[in-house]
Amino acid sequence: MAPIVPSRPSPADGPVSDTLPSRDATVGDDLLVRRLLPNRRRRLVGPWCFLDHFGPARLGSGGGMRVAQHPHIGLQTVTWLFEGTVRHKDSLGSLQDIRPGELNLMTAGHGIAHTEESPPDAPPGIHGVQLWIALPDPAREGPAAFAHHADLPRVRHGDADVTVFLGRLGDVESPAVVHSPLVGAEIHLDAGGEARIPTATAWEHAVVVVDGTLSVEGEPLAPGALRYLGTDRASLRLEAEAGARAVLVGGAPLEDAVVVWWNFVGRSWADVAAAHADWAAGERFGPVPGFDGGRLEAPSLPG
Ligand code: MN
Repeated sequence: MAPIVPSRPSPADGPVSDTLPSRDATVGDDLLVRRLLPNRRRRLVGPWCFLDHFGPARLGSGGGMRVAQHPHIGLQTVTWLFEGTVRHKDSLGSLQDIRPGELNLMTAGHGIAHTEESPPDAPPGIHGVQLWIALPDPAREGPAAFAHHADLPRVRHGDADVTVFLGRLGDVESPAVVHSPLVGAEIHLDAGGEARIPTATAWEHAVVVVDGTLSVEGEPLAPGALRYLGTDRASLRLEAEAGARAVLVGGAPLEDAVVVWWNFVGRSWADVAAAHADWAAGERFGPVPGFDGGRLEAPSLPG
């Protein structure tokens, strides 16, 4: 659930290094969710407007995770797991289990509703990230879509295995459909290893470590913080004494102001208010077939 935070464009600052602490919440019994974006000091990294790191955790015997029907507009949601299985259903009729190394990419466009739950036979461990990408015009008003990708490009840089799950890194490109220049990649660095990861100089980038400790351009980074790196970097130098796993996000700085409220990404409060009214009225988003767990009600709009 996104907090009530309007987002403004985040002008690029050149090659900065800013460590932004997460805001943490515990969901259910013991699933730690660290929110890296939006952050008090930074709302966007390129078009990336939301980043949650959840787990690692052992799901209890109560059935695991279960997020009831809820709507989205104006964004793509990215689910990327390091451990476990999550079942996705949406109002287009999609039904897709996702496992580590696979990508679930849901394009909300003008509107979609979905659910996420642990399948009955899911392994007990869960660890992953969920990210949102703010869509540009005209895709943000376009049709909804869902795609699953189990075969994603991997590339070796120095001592790092890099999986490009979204967008482009160097000359490697994910097959998943995106609507603006960006990258999303998992980086796994060997113990005692170092790597130089290519980055586009015109883009903003940020790194979150999900396992172990990594040094980024000589400065250590551990889970629980996002390292914002600004623009004007042709590469990132990474080192790890023990093995480490991280996610790199980046992209061209967004030109537009965006409003992120609850599960909606718009360009104005009018966009958000219209989506809020349609969800309350049972219009636009449609039911999620085959889900028997109800729906989430939106909080009241701020005055
Ligand atoms: Mn969602």
